[in-house]
Amino acid sequence: MTDAVLDSTVMPLPLPVRELMPWAIFGGLLMLLAIYFVGAEEGATSLIPGMYVHEFVHDGRHLLGFPCH
Ligand SMILES: [Zn+2]
Repeated sequence: MTDAVLDSTVMPLPLPVRELMPWAIFGGLLMLLAIYFVGAEEGATSLIPGMYVHEFVHDGRHLLGFPCH
């Protein structure tokens, strides 16, 4: 048996927003790109010819409720 000892000197580290913000923006841009490919990469808004991207993200389209077929 082990006894859990709580150390009262443990404090959470401060998380500076100035260092976090570039990563948050980068992550947001990646999410917007993913939303574009899942939701709008089809037909007139398609950047990549063919149905490869559409078929690759097809289950994601239905999961997120984008109109499909
Ligand atoms: Zn579909």
